[in-house]
Amino acid sequence: MEDFFNFDNLKEEYDVVIIGGGPAGLTAGIYAARDDLNTLILEKNFPGGQVAITEIIENYPGFLEGISGGELTEKLFQHAKQFGVEIKNGMCKGIEFCDGYKYVSLQYKDIKIKTKTVIIASGAKPKHLEVPGENKFLGRGISFCATCDGAFYKDKVVAVIGGGDSAVEEGHYLTKFAKKVYIVHRRDKLRAAKILQDRAFANPKIEFIWNSVVKKVNGEDKIESITLYDKKLGKTHDLKVDGVFVFIGWNADTEAFKGLLELDESGFIIADETTHTNVPGIFAAGDVRKKELRQIVTAVADGAVAAKMAERYIEENFPQEG
Ligand code: NAP
Repeated sequence: MEDFFNFDNLKEEYDVVIIGGGPAGLTAGIYAARDDLNTLILEKNFPGGQVAITEIIENYPGFLEGISGGELTEKLFQHAKQFGVEIKNGMCKGIEFCDGYKYVSLQYKDIKIKTKTVIIASGAKPKHLEVPGENKFLGRGISFCATCDGAFYKDKVVAVIGGGDSAVEEGHYLTKFAKKVYIVHRRDKLRAAKILQDRAFANPKIEFIWNSVVKKVNGEDKIESITLYDKKLGKTHDLKVDGVFVFIGWNADTEAFKGLLELDESGFIIADETTHTNVPGIFAAGDVRKKELRQIVTAVADGAVAAKMAERYIEENFPQEG
């Protein structure tokens, strides 16, 4: 792991620099290096990204008993290393261009890394409530993923926070398990698509709590209730729940690419399933890409595609070496 912090042994030039060492980035690394491309992954925190802090993943194909996020991350990390991928701790500041090459600059380090292609796999983070008690129950009662954690709430009572497509769709999905789902929204009108709203209104297990915001998450060893503030009545009350699913939007990790890449209004990189961005030779993979389903399985799929596209780009643009 000490090599993770050592930039002395950087190559003069890479075929692929991958920004982000989560499942998309590590998979892109595996595919690129296996195709004999000189590959460097830059990860700003620790390999694995969001997944590394997920307690148990039950929906990643092939792991019948589930697998912990830490273990899956370690396997992906070792797999990438096995094919010769270099993985370093660094945060991308920006990308410059010269003579057909790209130069990735880093925050806090006076280094520019020369590369033929860049794969951006810097991920996205679900927005947090930022109220007392939230951090205490992260990953053990507070969830940002119904597909991942819904099954833990069989016959329990859960609160879903938010009024967009995710909250309403995931709230409906959670009624497969939970006996009661409260959807808590800060206004009296949903942002979600009409078709999703109609389905949720018709679901007897869903109850909406309007004009309300979460002030606190309460409990000793597990969540017991949330404190809600009713903005219309100006009053607070406690709502008994066993779990809280937060769907109040996402933040993409794309600050460094503003002005260079085409982003949507939430900062996600616009690229289709071939992962091509508006800049030739720069690809976007995983949660950072504008897409419908943000899951590990869709992230690793993107990673594989992006590596293939990078290889093709090198063949076409650097024919003597590709
Ligand atoms: P979103 O559309 O940004 O909605 C976030 C919701 O959370 C809004 O209702 C917002 O309230 C509320 N909210 C934001 N900050 C809050 C806070 N601090 N406290 C309480 N509530 C807060 O996010 P999303 O639902 O995750 O959707 C993201 C994108 O993915 C959208 O483009 C969506 O259409 C798309 N998506 C599509 C589908 C589908 O088509 N099947 C499914 C999921 C997501 P306000 O309404 O008052 O702003």
